[in-house]
Amino acid sequence: MKGKEKGKTEKRVKTSPCIFCQIVARKAGAYRVSEDRLSLAILDIHPLNRGHCLVLPKRHVPWWHDLTREETRSLFAMARKLARRMMKILRPDFVCMYARGRRIPHTHLFLVPTSSGDLLDRFFNALEGAQEFPGKIRPVKRKKALKETARLLKG
Ligand SMILES: [Zn+2]
Repeated sequence: MKGKEKGKTEKRVKTSPCIFCQIVARKAGAYRVSEDRLSLAILDIHPLNRGHCLVLPKRHVPWWHDLTREETRSLFAMARKLARRMMKILRPDFVCMYARGRRIPHTHLFLVPTSSGDLLDRFFNALEGAQEFPGKIRPVKRKKALKETARLLKG
């Protein structure tokens, strides 16, 4: 009896509720645009712009910096290849890239073709404007704090 119960528990653990894992396993649909042994690129179904893709590792890893070197190489090589294709076909100013893993805790690189004045451009302009705002982040902007942070990150 105990063996059966253990088996059930293991099966439950293996069933991932992660939508990206389901897409990788072809248990959920997606507009697949590129794939190799370790990575998969799909269209974002809520695109910020035409061509907006998500590049994800096939293995469930929440944060990109916890990927193996091989996974990292695969992921960024795929992002580069797709970005170059986007530049050629969609002709944006450039392709913006950023990594997430919070809302869906499975690493995904956002690849968004962007041009001056579009939604993403305005968003990042606002974010960069906040960096210059003399409010809450002032303590981390002080020369002493910047010097200390640089020293810590140098290792
Ligand atoms: Zn996953």
